[in-house]
Amino acid sequence: MRSDFTSPERLENELELDQTLRPSTFPDFIGQEKIVNNLKIFITAARQRGEALDHVLLTGPPGLGKTTLAHIIAAELEKGIKVTSGPVLDKPGDLAGILTNLEDGDVLFIDEIHRLNAVVEEYLYSAMEEFRLDIIIDAGPNARSIQIALPRFTLVGATTRAGLLTSPLRARFGVMDRLDYYPPEHLFSILKRSAKILNVQMSDDGAFEIAGRSRGTPRIANRLLKRCRDFAEADKKLARHDGVINREVAEYSLRALEVDNHGLDEMDKRILRTIMEKYAGGPVGLSTLAVAVGEEPGTIEEVYEPYLIQEGFLKRTPRGREASDLAYKHFGLQRRRSNQADLF
Ligand code: ADP
Repeated sequence: MRSDFTSPERLENELELDQTLRPSTFPDFIGQEKIVNNLKIFITAARQRGEALDHVLLTGPPGLGKTTLAHIIAAELEKGIKVTSGPVLDKPGDLAGILTNLEDGDVLFIDEIHRLNAVVEEYLYSAMEEFRLDIIIDAGPNARSIQIALPRFTLVGATTRAGLLTSPLRARFGVMDRLDYYPPEHLFSILKRSAKILNVQMSDDGAFEIAGRSRGTPRIANRLLKRCRDFAEADKKLARHDGVINREVAEYSLRALEVDNHGLDEMDKRILRTIMEKYAGGPVGLSTLAVAVGEEPGTIEEVYEPYLIQEGFLKRTPRGREASDLAYKHFGLQRRRSNQADLF
């Protein structure tokens, strides 16, 4: 999580915003067509057979729609959903409590599933595979195992850190999907839909301006929309503007919020600047870079780098991470080593 996202007030607002704007059906869920089309087929097939849908694992950076899809899956199955997360399921008893409360065919959504503790994860194996829980009660000579039969349920697991999932857990998912960053056209449609729900007036060029700076992420797009609305409304009060978010308002607001024109966030910038300023553009090893920016190597690799690589700012090489010419240009910096060849 990024530091400026974590104040309790901000998180509460974000959660509220997420819930208000969360699409609840497939037609409202924009983009990710391949994933959506496959899920639709699997859901229809499961419904026709009268069976629970196979367990689904959704991976990808934060804010791309994993939680949203889990809710849509349950809605399309016309079943209930129980929501929890890896760190909350602290003891096997917590898992048993939630599993025994499910109805046949329900969805259990476990967010941050990579953070399940090892003991709880072991229990989950038999629950996923055989729909039963083997619980050991008592200890020493009195120890015995009792079996609890569970309803047939669908586990939807979500993780930003697929690399941390153990292979036995991964192997128990029948469907695995990785969500990708959204192209600006899809973010544009998401913003238009959100503006309608929030009753905000926004021109097409205003929406495109925000879309291009949203780091390929619907959650960020929605947050920026809300902040641009604040600026547009403040301007309206000052009689400078009609309250519509047009390109000018969007540009002005995003500049004031220090959102750069690729939507890079604080950690993105720190990673790139560190490579350029401390390591002469690289190559620099992942663990060295991680220490220098104060983030876990795995988080850099799975949460931050994919976007920087996609946008052409960063290159992964066998010798380490390198900043591209585009990164130098973006930050207005000069390469220090004159013999450094063009890296792209
Ligand atoms: P994740 O679980 O991957 O962190 P969420 O499912 O919570 O992401 O999505 C964050 C917010 O972004 C949602 O509340 C929703 O408003 C918006 N969102 C995500 N994906 C889409 C989409 N495909 N279409 C429209 N809105 C989306």
